[in-house]
Amino acid sequence: MKKYVLQMIFLFPLLFILPIHSYGESVKADLTSEEIFAERMALYLKTEAHTQIPWYYFAAVDSYERGLRQARKDRPEEEGFIAIYIPKEKWVGEYNPNQDDTNALSISFFEGVGLDGNGDGKADLNDDEDLLYTFAEGLAKFGQSDDDIRIGLWDYYKRDKAVELICGHAKVYKKFNTLDLREKSFPMPLHFNYSYRSTFGDARGWGGRRIHEGTDIFANHGTPVKSTTYGIVELKGWNKFGGWRIGIRDKDNVYHYYAHLSSFEKGIERGDIVEPGTVIGYVGSTGYGKPGTSGKFPPHLHYGVYRDNGIIEWSFDPFPKLRQWEREDRKKKRNG
Ligand SMILES: [Zn+2]
Repeated sequence: MKKYVLQMIFLFPLLFILPIHSYGESVKADLTSEEIFAERMALYLKTEAHTQIPWYYFAAVDSYERGLRQARKDRPEEEGFIAIYIPKEKWVGEYNPNQDDTNALSISFFEGVGLDGNGDGKADLNDDEDLLYTFAEGLAKFGQSDDDIRIGLWDYYKRDKAVELICGHAKVYKKFNTLDLREKSFPMPLHFNYSYRSTFGDARGWGGRRIHEGTDIFANHGTPVKSTTYGIVELKGWNKFGGWRIGIRDKDNVYHYYAHLSSFEKGIERGDIVEPGTVIGYVGSTGYGKPGTSGKFPPHLHYGVYRDNGIIEWSFDPFPKLRQWEREDRKKKRNG
């Protein structure tokens, strides 16, 4: 203890001399998306080399945390390439008088979690390498197998949903072997007849007082329904409101809900990985009753989107995105 105190007396003045290093927003602002993906991938691979935990788990955690930042007002947008959020007081230690501490020794003295990942002598919360290394070291303590990682993630987040989402993201990144999963698709082939308008928040008729959480796309029975995103099939089956329905989770933690299907695409199962345009089922009019009930309303696809903020999920209006994806699909078609 006495030794620590002496070191601290010696080290504290240094903190005021050392230049403060952090990524400003400008660092990222000048880069293309491809360059940002490349920077991120380099960080994940470096951390994989340190910890033997596959890169796609870091990509998955980072994606999950980026999604949370987008969904929450109490977390700023990340300045660096990594979105993992560790509160200052956790990084430097709750009782650390210097809440901007980057000295690994005093941070550890105050029981902060922050580590020096790149060997520059500082444990800097604003340094992506230090941030990712600190998270990874904590996870690696549990081991490197998929099961070990699940346990480690649960220990960190104490939330089953977080573990489920992150492990789903990891499967998607592993399968496509890229961070660039931005592509989207309109949920129906454009050459089929369909129509839709903005109806989010309208009252609806069946099952008590509920508001309409989504957009209805009217089309003929049997029109193919396509996944709008890259993602993992999180749910498939019957629901008395939605009929035969399927739920797909994307890398931003957004849940895409497709309801009233007449049937599912053959072979599609829970846990499957899909991409934009993957056919998942066919338009129908199922729902509003016990399993198999059909024909109580005209055939249409009910499409809903739900955002997760780390605690709860809530629906938002998919209409503007549908318009955008429809435009983009039309352009892709024109460009062959
Ligand atoms: Zn609907």
